Amino acid sequence: MKAERPRTDRAPAAPAAPNIRESLSALRSSVRFLKGVGPARAAQLEAFGLRTIEDLLFHLPFRYEDRRAVAKIRDALVGEEKTFIGRLIALGQHFNPRRRQRMLTGMLDDGTGRLGLVWYRAPSYLVEGLAKGQTLVIHGKVEAGTGGHKQIAHPEFEVIDPADPPDHQKILPVYERPEGIALKTMRKWIAEAVETHGMHVPAFLPPVVLKKFALLDSRAALQRLHLPEKSDDVEALNRSTSAAHRAVVFDECFYLQLGLALRRQNRTGRSGIAFTREKKSLTQKMWELLPFRLTGAQEKVLQEIALDMAAPRPMQRLLQGDVGSGKTIVGWFAALRAVENGFQAVWMAPTELLAEQHYRNLKDFAAKLGVPIALLTGSMPAKARHEIIDGIKEGRVSFVIGTHAVIQENVRVPRLGLGIIDEQHRFGVMQRMALQKLASCRGAVALPEPDILLMSATPIPRSLAMVLYGDLEISWLNELPPGRTPVETRLVRSAARARAYDLVCDEVRKGRQAYVVYPLVEASEKLEVRDATSMAAELSRGVFKDCRVALIHGRMSAVERDDTMRRFKDGDVQILVATTVIEVGIDVSNASVMIIEHAERFGLSQLHQLRGRVGRGQHGSYCVMIYYGGNNSEALERLRVMERERDGFKIAEADLQLRGPGEMIGTRQSGLADFRIANLARDSRLLLEAREEALAWLEQDPRLARPESRAMKAVLKHRWAGRLELGNIG
Ligand code: ADP
Ligand code: MG
Repeated sequence: MKAERPRTDRAPAAPAAPNIRESLSALRSSVRFLKGVGPARAAQLEAFGLRTIEDLLFHLPFRYEDRRAVAKIRDALVGEEKTFIGRLIALGQHFNPRRRQRMLTGMLDDGTGRLGLVWYRAPSYLVEGLAKGQTLVIHGKVEAGTGGHKQIAHPEFEVIDPADPPDHQKILPVYERPEGIALKTMRKWIAEAVETHGMHVPAFLPPVVLKKFALLDSRAALQRLHLPEKSDDVEALNRSTSAAHRAVVFDECFYLQLGLALRRQNRTGRSGIAFTREKKSLTQKMWELLPFRLTGAQEKVLQEIALDMAAPRPMQRLLQGDVGSGKTIVGWFAALRAVENGFQAVWMAPTELLAEQHYRNLKDFAAKLGVPIALLTGSMPAKARHEIIDGIKEGRVSFVIGTHAVIQENVRVPRLGLGIIDEQHRFGVMQRMALQKLASCRGAVALPEPDILLMSATPIPRSLAMVLYGDLEISWLNELPPGRTPVETRLVRSAARARAYDLVCDEVRKGRQAYVVYPLVEASEKLEVRDATSMAAELSRGVFKDCRVALIHGRMSAVERDDTMRRFKDGDVQILVATTVIEVGIDVSNASVMIIEHAERFGLSQLHQLRGRVGRGQHGSYCVMIYYGGNNSEALERLRVMERERDGFKIAEADLQLRGPGEMIGTRQSGLADFRIANLARDSRLLLEAREEALAWLEQDPRLARPESRAMKAVLKHRWAGRLELGNIG
């Protein structure tokens, strides 16, 4: 009988290279299976977004502690972050009954001086773990303490064997983590994950690419990021520009670009609708109805869209245009092209307000052109809604404009030719897919895929757009219609608020309207932020008592909100106190002033969007940003950009430079790309290089069919298949 030795008995001396599939599935296993992580801890990690071992491995330190050099207490300066080693010569507990907290104090002596240690809230594990006489490594920021001693509050510490201190002189990672999980614990778990699963991290970039960019193997790089070596450059680690960072970022972007390019490639192979440009019954007439001349940019973009729609593959085009650049009319022309070819068009807007606004703006054109259009929103009475849904299904309605309601289950658009998604960053990929599939339920006949036009007013630099939207064609609407006077923008300190109110009163007296924007809805005890609800009440009793003031915010029902907005639009309301619900798309051309409270709390792109609500008419208009806080120069510098710039793309670029893409394009906003590690601002060069390499690789092997692409294909599926719908890459 042949003795089958169970695998686990094999000598682990040289583990065989794990099979790629097994590796990837091992990475997918739950954090629960990690040593020391019980169900409760696992739940905490999961709630924090760290579900799998892979999540943990890619949860990189956000900074590093340099404990290589041990400082002398004698030389400690207030404000410095340093590491000390000494003996704990005193330890005491105090209970603070008022705060119901246990405070712990200690004294560290290293032979050169004494350093106070203090924990204002001391959990019991801490109290139990410390004892007089221990030798401790202490790390933290030195501050002035009581009784002439310097001290560190809530220091990082480790109890060590005094015989072996050098072991603790290393670079240590610092992680973001769920509340209640000690940094030490987090370090231990991640080190454990690296130890037990690090070898499963895929590292399959083409060798030529690794060589060309002098990249570390990404598996080794990841380990190095969690467990830095003593010789590593802490500065570079902290700036996330170390060689290890570069390798991991490159790897991430390479795969994303591979996925996006494949997705785009898949699309060109599928059959769509060729909307001919010969049939011009509607678009021609629309030209004659236009109340203005299109800008050059609008004409150019319309041309691009028309060409794309005429091609027999499904269009997926992103229209990038600054606030107020006139995207609506462009979308409308595209819709008419579909309708004159005998198809239906669906326009999806993120809010009822916007859907209604577009509907109101377009229905007169539609009437003159004889195009049957309908509005479909969730708040419509059921009967009216069903009538419209029937009308769409039976083809009596050619153009539907609405909210998410248009992609609800019972909606069928049998001859869907074009789907338009306005303010696309407000929607997710799933919704885009749902829109695409509205037609696909008519018997077994495979229908051609509809064209999709995405519109976005979150301007991003071109190079980054390529990285983020590598699967889409992009049109740029980079010109504002003529005759707009720039919005005069001022940044003022809160003390000067009265002057801003005067300005509002003046404008209202002249017949104009105003917005006052607050970052929060209700007063929060924690943050002393002026909130919309209480301020609306205060303002309407106080400075604006002679004006008609109304409040609008996101927690009102859609009906209430729309009602208020309508009253503002009709001029019944003169001053609208609002949260950022007005950020997107609202168009009231008589509004000429906007006051933004706590401007420092908004991202630049958001401020730009907000400001875009004024300056839409022929009147000169103003935006006053009220700024709180001391001399936080970083926030000030950021806000100054708004005074100088009015080009959304330039603002976006500045935003990116100053604080990274988090707020701006927050990966969610891209609706697709979701970087785990890469930072669009910091890594833009690297991302573009990775993109080029990914495209070059695909050029050689468009289907990833060659043996050397096999592992890559598996990794690609593992990372992106779900999100990129790469169902058919094998
Ligand atoms: P956005 O790109 O922000 O969606 P809109 O489509 O809402 O911008 O257009 C903003 C305003 O500019 C609207 O009132 C629209 O009628 C007007 N507009 C659009 N194109 C032109 C143009 N070529 N000339 C003059 N006004 C225009
Ligand atoms: Mg718009």
